[in-house]
Amino acid sequence: MHADVASPAADLAAAGVDPDEVVRFTQELIAARSENPGGTEDEAVGVAGALLNDMGVSSEVIRGEAGRPSLVARLGGTDRPTLAWNGHLDTVPAGAPDTWSSPPFAGAVVGGRLIGRGACDMKGPVAAALAAVAAIRRTGLELGGGFHLHLAADEELAGLHGTKILWERGVLDQDAAIVGEPSDLALGLAERGGAWVTATAHGRAAHGSQPHLGVNAITSMARFLLRLSEGLPDIEHPLVGRPTINAALIAGGSAPNVVPDRCSVDIDRRVIPGETDPERVLAPLRALVDSIRAEHPEVELDLQIREWTDAAEAPADSRVAAVARAAVAAETGTVPADVGFTGITDARFYINQARIPTVILGPGSLQVAHTADEWVAVEDLVAAARAYARIAVAFLGAA
Ligand SMILES: [Zn+2]
Repeated sequence: MHADVASPAADLAAAGVDPDEVVRFTQELIAARSENPGGTEDEAVGVAGALLNDMGVSSEVIRGEAGRPSLVARLGGTDRPTLAWNGHLDTVPAGAPDTWSSPPFAGAVVGGRLIGRGACDMKGPVAAALAAVAAIRRTGLELGGGFHLHLAADEELAGLHGTKILWERGVLDQDAAIVGEPSDLALGLAERGGAWVTATAHGRAAHGSQPHLGVNAITSMARFLLRLSEGLPDIEHPLVGRPTINAALIAGGSAPNVVPDRCSVDIDRRVIPGETDPERVLAPLRALVDSIRAEHPEVELDLQIREWTDAAEAPADSRVAAVARAAVAAETGTVPADVGFTGITDARFYINQARIPTVILGPGSLQVAHTADEWVAVEDLVAAARAYARIAVAFLGAA
């Protein structure tokens, strides 16, 4: 395996990466605003499509019912094996520009860091993948299989109008996949899922001057929320850690002088691989309600799961994992660690739906994703582009 990654063809492809081009591609993609919510990916799709076109690679725009565009491009022939590279073209909103030290859509390079909305999450990684394609084209190497780019819409708000559409249209049929979310060039092999639980406390309205005649639903909810962490099971996953729970959104009451008869809270319960049964996630929360009722029988609280997203776990010993590990080691001198993602990414569509061996591998850190002054080190962008080129050539073969 290591021999493949260090083959003359793989060396040639990595050497074909042009660092200035990686920076320019990133800047062009950042300048094509695609904030989600609030915008579309059309401009960014246009930029990526034009860059591919300049390399002599054709691409196709795929839209779901909502009209949001994802771009699919295929390098190489129609033979197997095939390797998908997935990245999303939307970003979270930039927020107030005055919270940034340089304009969020300028992509300024300061002290080796490229700054902008999407620098690491994930227009930088998309640019690195495009630069890898450019490098392979430049060398004149013919890939032994197909390297497929899936540049998707709408990842930040659950991917339902992006990678999910690609899955539904049968686009996710590759032998392996890389999802380029920022992993600091570590190998992401698992991610947490999530359950959105709505808790509703029911009380009894009364005149605000006579609260003893009513049951205060906000007070009932408070009793529950203060003990919320007791509703978590004592389990842990080696890569993604423990499940978490967070009371995210609250509503209750009708007027300042009325005892509230209702209070509801949206709870964000993150699940780890192995937690597949919604009822088992709710059970300890229900037990918590019972325990509160033992002391406060007036508490009435029901729980409902409104959305469920499975956690995902990919095999650590797949061929794509081995190739990716060796390619990163070849570029950085260090064998990357296996890591887990605390958040949800589009990797779950490849792992859970399409059943494709997948790794999450990209430059930059999730620590700075979604923040003002989001940045990525230019050095890491270039290392990622070189690693992607090396992986494509090693995984698919080339002559
Ligand atoms: Zn992302």
